[in-house]
Amino acid sequence: MKILVLNSGSSSIKYQLFNMEEEIVLAKGIVERIGIADSFLEQENNAGEELRWEEDIADHSKGISLVIKALQDDDKGVLRDMDEISAIGHRVVHGGEKFADSVKIDADVIAQIEEVSDLAPLHNPPNLAGIKECQKLLPDKPQVAVFDTAFHQTMPAAAYIYALPYEYYEKYGIRRYGFHGTSHKFVARRAAELLPKEKEESKIITCHLGNGASVAAVDGGKSVDTSMGLTPLEGLVMGTRCGDIDPAIVPFLQKREGLSPEEIDNVMNKESGLLGISGVSNDSRDISEAVEDGNERAKLAEDVFQYRVKKYIGAYAAAMGGLDAIVFTAGIGENASEIRAGILSELEFLGFELDEEENNKRGEELEISTSDSEVKVFVIPTNEELVIAKDTAAIVAEL
Ligand code: AMP
Repeated sequence: MKILVLNSGSSSIKYQLFNMEEEIVLAKGIVERIGIADSFLEQENNAGEELRWEEDIADHSKGISLVIKALQDDDKGVLRDMDEISAIGHRVVHGGEKFADSVKIDADVIAQIEEVSDLAPLHNPPNLAGIKECQKLLPDKPQVAVFDTAFHQTMPAAAYIYALPYEYYEKYGIRRYGFHGTSHKFVARRAAELLPKEKEESKIITCHLGNGASVAAVDGGKSVDTSMGLTPLEGLVMGTRCGDIDPAIVPFLQKREGLSPEEIDNVMNKESGLLGISGVSNDSRDISEAVEDGNERAKLAEDVFQYRVKKYIGAYAAAMGGLDAIVFTAGIGENASEIRAGILSELEFLGFELDEEENNKRGEELEISTSDSEVKVFVIPTNEELVIAKDTAAIVAEL
């Protein structure tokens, strides 16, 4: 069975084509700069052959037709016919309270995704554009939605209710939803397999540290708390997002700087985080280089980033009343060994010791706690696309 996985953003479409029997990627690619000058498509197939088309890609419709064309390219394509594909799995960022699992898309599902779009105005509309274009271009193919929020729907009310007047939860659905669910679920499941305990008894903290970053507490295989909230802005310090701040700062800055709601939102989402503190970059590699060059604000950005993750790990061990494993994943979590070491330092009282040699390895599955540590620390590369493909395949198999 072949499954196409699509992640449609506002100006990009990322895609991967899976062969599900062997769980291998046959081709992956990206359409970039949709609706902007210099748009292009890049694709690499599993023979390592690359293709790059630079052309005007005005909208998602054009972008998806190019993806379909690239997959069937005579030279570097991997399909003879789109009929070889069984279904399409779409990443959808916000499913609100409606979706605790992946679903086959129909008119009702689309209406429900539209209903919660104001909770994720940057993400859900482009996700929906991708779905609608696929329905037009490939009308016979089942489409499946896999939600970033779904895994966290098991959180108890004590973890998801904000201490605002309750009517705002009832009227607007204002509560913690959490994101990166597909990634937290994937790495927590893998960590549970690596632990000697039964999955139902394991208490795992998963740290998804990429340009966007979040932590989740996974107790008995279920998410019981997570650091992102109503939107992906809450929680950790991220590339350009501030994460937790005193909410009183928002009206203060609006008044003092004369900022509109949209402008303050932009400051917190696009101009803050590692970039905002350091003034150097949103990319942790640039920050590390600047730290080596003696840049003090870069060092401060790194310290604030690490301290925030450390606090969440402590909080979630408390929330679960125990801990069996900590997992690091995503760009920073998988690759930045010094940042992992910085986060873990002085957390040894939780029951682990860091194996420095293992921690200095990069980009592969690792156990970075010493073998006699009671609490294990793992690095587990995430694979959100594979989860989307598997969920899609499972739903299609039942049709
Ligand atoms: P992601 O959003 O998961 O793609 O992660 C992006 C973040 O991961 C950026 O801050 C990158 O600097 C960081 N990152 C990616 N690769 C590496 C690497 N090899 N070493 C250190 N950080 C990395």
